[in-house]
Amino acid sequence: MLRLEHLVKDYYTGDEIVHAIRDLTVTFRDNEFVSILGPSGCGKTTLLNIIGGLDNYNSGNLVINGRSTKDYTDKDWDTYRNHRIGFVFQSYNLIMHQTVLQNVALSMALTDVPKDEREKRAAAALEKVGLKDQLNKKPTQMSGGQMQRVAIARALVNDPEILLADEPTGALDSHTSVQIMDLLKEIAKDRLVIMVTHNPELAQQYSTRIIRLRDGVIVSDSDPVREGEELEDEQKPLKKPSMKFGTALSLSFNNLLTKKGRTLLTAFAGSIGIIGIGLIMSLSSGMQGYIDRVEQDTMTSYPVTIEDNTMDMSVLMSAMMDRDEQGEKKSYDGTVRSRAFADKLLGSIADTEKNNLTAFRKYLNSPGGQELKETASAIEYNYGITMHVYNKQAVGDKLVAVSPNGLMDELGMSDMINLRDQFMGGMSSAMPGSEVWMALPAESSLRD
Ligand code: ADP
Ligand code: MG
Repeated sequence: MLRLEHLVKDYYTGDEIVHAIRDLTVTFRDNEFVSILGPSGCGKTTLLNIIGGLDNYNSGNLVINGRSTKDYTDKDWDTYRNHRIGFVFQSYNLIMHQTVLQNVALSMALTDVPKDEREKRAAAALEKVGLKDQLNKKPTQMSGGQMQRVAIARALVNDPEILLADEPTGALDSHTSVQIMDLLKEIAKDRLVIMVTHNPELAQQYSTRIIRLRDGVIVSDSDPVREGEELEDEQKPLKKPSMKFGTALSLSFNNLLTKKGRTLLTAFAGSIGIIGIGLIMSLSSGMQGYIDRVEQDTMTSYPVTIEDNTMDMSVLMSAMMDRDEQGEKKSYDGTVRSRAFADKLLGSIADTEKNNLTAFRKYLNSPGGQELKETASAIEYNYGITMHVYNKQAVGDKLVAVSPNGLMDELGMSDMINLRDQFMGGMSSAMPGSEVWMALPAESSLRD
C-alpha cells in the first residue's frame, strides 16, 4: 500500500519558487490501474518521480507499506527503487548501442541474479511484451511502439510491486497506443500501475481509477480509498541491491568502448596534462643541472684559496669609497685627501693576518677533515717554491733561465716583480700571469 500525506514539493529556480505539488493526500491500493490526468505543468511528472524515489519532497509524508520514507536511508531508497518500482518513460530511455536483451538484462545488474539467469529472465519478459524474436536487435532498429515494449519489459523484469508510467503513449500513434495500453492493463492485473497520460479516452477505457490534477492538487478522484476500507499494510522484508565487481567493471568497459571519441579525447587531454607536468619537471631538472655545472665551472676557475697571510679586502674597498666621498667634498684640498687615502691603505696592509696552514693541513688529513675533503673536487697545496729551469741555448752553449721568467729582468722591471712579491706574499699563485711553469692540478679532469 502506498500513501501520500499532505505532500508538498517546491522547486527553486533563482529567486523564483515553483509550487509543483501543494498539499496532496492520496492512497493507492496494491492492485489497481490508476490514470493521472491534468494539463501540462500541473505536477504529474513530479508526483511520479517522488513516488518512484527519484526526487525528494519538501514536507508531508510518503508511506510505503506502513513505513514512512522520512527515515529511509540511501540504501533503503536503492532497495525500493530496485525491487519495488518499475519505471516507463515517454522517451523510452533505452541504451541505444546495446541490444534489446542487454537493455532488459541491465536492470538486473544491481541484483545477485547470476548472468545466464538474467538473460533467461530478460528473454521471458521480452516474450511477455511480444518481442520474442527481436532479442538481438538494437533499439535504433525498432519502431516507437517496440521501444516502449522494451522499456516495459525492462520495468517488469525485476517483478516490481508498482509500475510507474509517465505518458507511455505520448510519442506513439493511436493504433500502437492501444497495444501498449492493453499490455499495461494486463500488467495491472497483479500489481499497482500508476500512469500519467494526456489522453482522457484511453484513461477512461483502460484504467480502474482516474485522478485529475491541477496546479499541484487533486481536483477529482474517481475511486478514492474509503475510510475503513481494509488495506494490506504489512512490511515486507527486501533484498538489498548489490552490484558485483565484475559487472561494474564490464559495464564501465562497455561504456568506454561505445564512446570511443570521448574516451580518446579524454585520454588525449589527460596525456597533455601529464606531458606538461613531465616537461616542466624535465625543464626544472635541466635548469638545476645547468646551474650546478656553471657553479662547478666557476668554482674551478675561482677556487677558494687560503693563504698564510690574508688581507681584508673590504677595508681596502671602504678606504677607496671613503676617499671618493671626501674627494667630492674637499676637492680643493688635494694633499689632505691623498694623504688620508695612503694612511688607510697602509693601515689595511698592516692589518694582514696570519693563518696557521700547518694545523689546517693536519686537520684536513685527520678523520674530522674528511667531510670537508669530500665536498671539494680537489685540494691542492702550494708551497711558494719557484722551480728553477734552465735552457741550454743552441747558439753558444749558453744557459738561459726559463723559470723564473727572466723577461722582466731583461726589461729592467725586476724591481717591480720583487715589490709585487713583497706585497702579495703567497698570493702570486692566484695571479699566475708571469709564471711559465706551473704545477698540474691534482684533479685530472681540470688539467685540459
Ligand atoms: P507535468 O509533468 O504535469 O507537465 P511537471 O511535474 O513536470 O509537470 O512540472 C510541474 C511544475 O514544476 C512545472 O511548473 C515545472 O516547470 C516545474 N518543474 C518541474 N521540474 C522542475 C525542476 N527540476 N526545476 C524547476 N522547476 C521544475
Ligand atoms: Mg510531465
